[in-house]
Amino acid sequence: MKIRLYRFTLSTAFMAALYSPVVNAKVSTSIVPQLTSSLCAEPNLHCAHGTNGIVIGKTEELGHYAAVIDEAATKFQKHFDIKASLAAVVLGGSVSDKAKTTLKNEMYRNILPWLSQTDKKKLIHSSIRSQLQEQMPGAMEEQIENILAAKMKEIDDGKSNSEATQIEYSALAHELAHYWFIDGYWKEDAAALSNFEGYGGPAPDWLDETAAVLAENEALTRSRRQQLIEKFRENSTDAIWPLTDYFNMEHPRLDLVKQQKALKRQRKDKSTQTTAIFMTADEVKERAKENNSRAAGNFYLQSRGFADFMIETTGNERIFAKIARFIANGGSMADWLKSEGSQQGLPASIEALEALWLSWLPSRITNL
Ligand SMILES: [Zn+2]
Repeated sequence: MKIRLYRFTLSTAFMAALYSPVVNAKVSTSIVPQLTSSLCAEPNLHCAHGTNGIVIGKTEELGHYAAVIDEAATKFQKHFDIKASLAAVVLGGSVSDKAKTTLKNEMYRNILPWLSQTDKKKLIHSSIRSQLQEQMPGAMEEQIENILAAKMKEIDDGKSNSEATQIEYSALAHELAHYWFIDGYWKEDAAALSNFEGYGGPAPDWLDETAAVLAENEALTRSRRQQLIEKFRENSTDAIWPLTDYFNMEHPRLDLVKQQKALKRQRKDKSTQTTAIFMTADEVKERAKENNSRAAGNFYLQSRGFADFMIETTGNERIFAKIARFIANGGSMADWLKSEGSQQGLPASIEALEALWLSWLPSRITNL
């Protein structure tokens, strides 16, 4: 019996942009009163406000998400010289055109549909259940329940609920920072972007990813650092891209995003009902070529490590603000090093920077 296990892909992980008819609404539970969306006055909808955004959903437990937005905005602003724009996170993954217009009119230009852990589990649960029913016609309900329970356990991957929640919060921070970054330095292009694609935008992919990784929470940051060192220990420089490639390459997950976009368009054409973008674990692996030593996922790890290296070497937490400004004005990383590198305590060429980076990286192994 074949059961397709659906999983969200990692990069746009947890981000499912779902467009469906408007949600009903009710009272708002406002933490910090600020711009109050009229959506919060609709029956059955709750709102939580933070300093940097609003969370809208059908449950009252939204405060954690508002705190995640604020924490991510603080981290973003620590590294960049621009303010994070107001963000609206819509839980349940549904944003109607009407709601979007309302939010945009109230200065929430940055709208992110989001599925909580629980929402995602429910979707996966019902998808597997209907496949089982299809493939096992006449099976006892109990038998289906047992297989279903076993499959759900397999999907949980041994992760505890709190671990899964931390990953979810970090993924939210990551996606928000992608938007803030492009919105801050490439404003006109940001307006044209359909939504939080993360990469494939106007910024070089390495810099875009760096901005997102810098906003992640401590738990994920620690795990990324550790994974980078492990990969480097196993495969040395084969685990990472030479800087000349890294600064110019497309995000190794870009293909996957293009496929997801196409899938989303296809499903949107067919129906206005809620759609989520799923791929099987095997599809993700195959398409992202996860099996070689320089796996697509290493791009995130290298971005984390390279950011640590740059901040430590220059002693400047806002080093990427300078680089982003320069590149947004049409410059390249090579030109930036030539003109500003020495002021920042860096070499003036990519080749010399590469040598420094490769001597810094092994030093982290002993520090672990
Ligand atoms: Zn990203």
